[in-house]
Amino acid sequence: MKIRRISDELKKKYGQKIYKLSLSAGCTCPNRDGSLGFGGCTFCSEGGSGDFAARPAPAAEQIAEARRRIDPKLPKSLAMKDRRFIAYFQSFTNTYGDTGRLEHIFSEAEDQPEIVGLSIGTRPDCLEDDKISMLKRLNERKPVWVELGLQTIHEETACRIHRGYSLPVFEDAYHRLKQAGLTVIVHVILGLPRETEEMMLQTVRYLASLDPHPDGVKLQLLHILKGTRLAEEYQERPFPVFTMEEYCRLVVKCLKILPEDAVIHRLTGDGPKKLLVAPLWSADKKRVLNMLNRYIEEA
Ligand code: SF4
Repeated sequence: MKIRRISDELKKKYGQKIYKLSLSAGCTCPNRDGSLGFGGCTFCSEGGSGDFAARPAPAAEQIAEARRRIDPKLPKSLAMKDRRFIAYFQSFTNTYGDTGRLEHIFSEAEDQPEIVGLSIGTRPDCLEDDKISMLKRLNERKPVWVELGLQTIHEETACRIHRGYSLPVFEDAYHRLKQAGLTVIVHVILGLPRETEEMMLQTVRYLASLDPHPDGVKLQLLHILKGTRLAEEYQERPFPVFTMEEYCRLVVKCLKILPEDAVIHRLTGDGPKKLLVAPLWSADKKRVLNMLNRYIEEA
């Protein structure tokens, strides 16, 4: 089967490979600071699901720092002046805080010539109308993607993982973002505790039924990371985790359900190896991607 991968879509649009720089908007999360709850979602690591992000600092400084790390790894044939990036505000909830302060950080990132667009990770309950208007203004200068962590449509799982908002909250934010002309990418986690395969497929069917369709989808394998509440739960009362083959088979089923125009941003997880408790096979990302690609080709 053929899928639309974000790397190919970006190459088509910009004529070259586009890389992501993980940055920080210096936000916390209402699910961590006590406004909604303490400790966050049970799977969320200390870095707020953005363990590779730069430390909070002015955006231009963070971009320069992130480039010092990434540039030596990029092909030498791609001249420094031609390298292009997406500024990815990944850790914690990047629309949680003062709108003016956030707009200043995001605009500064957009001002950098090597930045072709922004990707902003957030929760649907932190998207008040003034935040969406701010994102809309930014989107008029350079493309802005909003990454919404849904994870599951099942309320019992949402309670179990302490997500802290209900499905109608997601739906409302989703439609307001789409009405504002923003690109919306939805995150789903496969393998949440006590979810059956059918429940995971129901979440994916729900995404496919959204009108309009999500612009992009991230399918993420549940990573159990050291220091999280989920890791404690797993150690006290282990729950089943996927084998690599099971996971690859499930991803193919999900891809078959998703609308053909949905761009796939991720097919597996992206957690730090040093914190990984389970499933340990996921640390070998190259091997996982090879198997996934083989299963997709054969489907
Ligand atoms: S909403 Fe995101 S940052 Fe906040 S606790 Fe959950 S995973 Fe972590």
